[in-house]
Amino acid sequence: MTEVSVAEEDAVATDELVVLKSVNKHFGALHVLQDIDLTIARGEVVVVIGPSGSGKSTLCRTINRLETVDSGTITIDGRPLPQEGRELARLRADVGMVFQSFNLFAHKTVLENVTLAQIKVRRANKQQAQEKARALLDRVGVGAQADKYPAQLSGGQQQRVAIARALAMDPKVMLFDEPTSALDPEMINEVLEVMQQLARDGMTMIVVTHEMGFARSAADRVVFMADGRIVEQAVPEQFFSNPRSDRAKDFLSKIL
Ligand code: ADP
Ligand code: MG
Repeated sequence: MTEVSVAEEDAVATDELVVLKSVNKHFGALHVLQDIDLTIARGEVVVVIGPSGSGKSTLCRTINRLETVDSGTITIDGRPLPQEGRELARLRADVGMVFQSFNLFAHKTVLENVTLAQIKVRRANKQQAQEKARALLDRVGVGAQADKYPAQLSGGQQQRVAIARALAMDPKVMLFDEPTSALDPEMINEVLEVMQQLARDGMTMIVVTHEMGFARSAADRVVFMADGRIVEQAVPEQFFSNPRSDRAKDFLSKIL
């Protein structure tokens, strides 16, 4: 084998940013994640869909270790998920997470929400953290709200702040768990547009959503889950026009 082909193999290996192998998770008697194998490439946008209770949120939560797994392995950029301590804090910072409920710190300003972890986890100095926060807030279109408190913002604005807060850690991958489900309809698009732009900018993203328009236009791949399993996965066009499994057909017939 030539040196060139070895180098190419290395390049392929590091292209796999998030790798789950045979991941199993129970909640008591409930087998909530069943033999999950999933590989997300750097820069890939994966939309996860499926019925309520199928394990989508649990999947997200295991990827940044808000939940432990019973068996199997999860690696982020080639490194296994650490058990605890400073390593875990660093890993969590590599995995940005945006939830349905925006989870901003209510008693901190928007700017403070976006600087806090930079200073505490990334050890950034205050001025640098603020400059970066302002740039990110501008990028998601809420720069003018920097000195307000979360409650003074609309839901759509709060969710965009939550995205800026996650981006401030320079995450390698962003997880979104139904980021628009709690929003009034007129605010959904402003959040989806920010996510679309992130995807275009090359961010690696795992997005749990019921927004099929987003899935069609932004996803490289759709992963369909049911009953704790990945039932099928395909590029959006193929998945939506020609789902293979009965579960996916049934699901799509209810939501489309
Ligand atoms: P989804 O996000 O697809 O709706 P979840 O991952 O939230 O699904 O939940 C999958 C299943 O696991 C559901 O039956 C849910 O009730 C259950 N579940 C989720 N979290 C817990 C928990 N902390 N303890 C016990 N059961 C849970
Ligand atoms: Mg969920």
